[in-house]
Amino acid sequence: MGTLLNRLIPGIIWLWQLPQHLLALILIHLWNATYNPHHGIWLIDKKGIGVSLGSYILLDKRYGCGNIDRITTAIKHECGHSRQSLIFGPLYLLVIGIPSAICTNLWDRLFHTNWPSARRERWYYKRYPENWADMLGGVKREEWAANKRRK
Ligand SMILES: [Zn+2]
Repeated sequence: MGTLLNRLIPGIIWLWQLPQHLLALILIHLWNATYNPHHGIWLIDKKGIGVSLGSYILLDKRYGCGNIDRITTAIKHECGHSRQSLIFGPLYLLVIGIPSAICTNLWDRLFHTNWPSARRERWYYKRYPENWADMLGGVKREEWAANKRRK
């Protein structure tokens, strides 16, 4: 019984996040994403895009221009969104995905075009649900920004 349950759990966890997992599979197909086994993420050819849909993380293949600190920080942040997906299950897109896409991402792209990038980044990661994703993913944004300034 125990082993049967152990075998069923990954499937149950996958189904719990079904809406975002289906969306991920559609985007992976539409965007011709390639899997990167080293980072455990899907690389896409979409400028500046990073999306976390349950167990699937899709990230712009040029993100961070090879800067390993930036890439690692982005992956940790997206893992934070994956945890939010585990918590909210079928409500993830409603509670996290849509607010993040519209109130943070789209808003920033539309209204902050003449802001310096550091200010945009600060604004972006202080907002819900981004600040919470940072916390869940173990990203210490202020420390990271200070390190960047020192370099
Ligand atoms: Zn985010």
